[in-house]
Amino acid sequence: MNLPEIKVAKTAGFCPGVKNAIETARRLASSGKRRVYTYGPLIHNKQVIAELEKDGIFAVSDAKNLRRGETIIIRAHGITPEQENMLRALGLEVADATCPLVKKAQSAIAVHAAKGFETVIVGDSGHAEVIGLMGYAEGRGHVISSAFEAGKLPSMEKAHVLSQTTQEEEVFRAAAEAVRPHSGECVISDTICQPTKERQKEVLALARWADVMVVAGDRNSANTSRLAAICSRLCPKTLLIEDADTLQGLDFKGARRIAVTAGASTPDPQIERIVARIRALSAA
Ligand code: SF4
Repeated sequence: MNLPEIKVAKTAGFCPGVKNAIETARRLASSGKRRVYTYGPLIHNKQVIAELEKDGIFAVSDAKNLRRGETIIIRAHGITPEQENMLRALGLEVADATCPLVKKAQSAIAVHAAKGFETVIVGDSGHAEVIGLMGYAEGRGHVISSAFEAGKLPSMEKAHVLSQTTQEEEVFRAAAEAVRPHSGECVISDTICQPTKERQKEVLALARWADVMVVAGDRNSANTSRLAAICSRLCPKTLLIEDADTLQGLDFKGARRIAVTAGASTPDPQIERIVARIRALSAA
């Protein structure tokens, strides 16, 4: 029997921002005797969240019930300045694990907003990172997800257009160009992070090569869903799976080239289990 060739993306798995947030949480949890809290789930991955809880790291959506002096971690997505002030006003020890690449986008917004620019973010309006970014827009921010949505923008004297860090490059470029006719002066900041660019570039090549493309990650993870959307445009048999068990029952017979990638919140051991299961299923 001819077994399929399996390629695993070099860029699959944790990005530097997620790695740093998890390491920060683990370091703080092991250095003190008390629990450590994260403002919202540190990562969109149920298995990792369960492991973090075993280490004494718990997500809270409302920090008001925490006691003064307790430690709360700002996750890689960042938060609004108001939320940060609120955490500090509660007397909590705030550990800021906002990814430096998200911070760069936050400060680009703040700098332009101070000069009178309205902010246009190309991203998902309900996503935590975008909510945090909007907090720097001095109340004059808009979120659009596509060039089409740019058509609904009001006319603006000065517009600063930037992207959610995990945005798709093509979507961002088209949307940014579509904002131009709505503003007298338009500044465009490409704030898609480098790890995302590399991940998307690699995935484009893999999806063209593969006849089955497997994208591993949580369905609630924006970057995982985006990767799956990119892959399915090039490889009709694209499977978005959460873990190795989700592969059970899927048929890899006849596949000659299988590629695997994963979102920024999928840990390496989970990717390894998925690859092992694919090998077993395709050999069955
Ligand atoms: S996706 Fe990019 S910006 Fe977001 S946390 Fe990861 S490295 Fe940072």
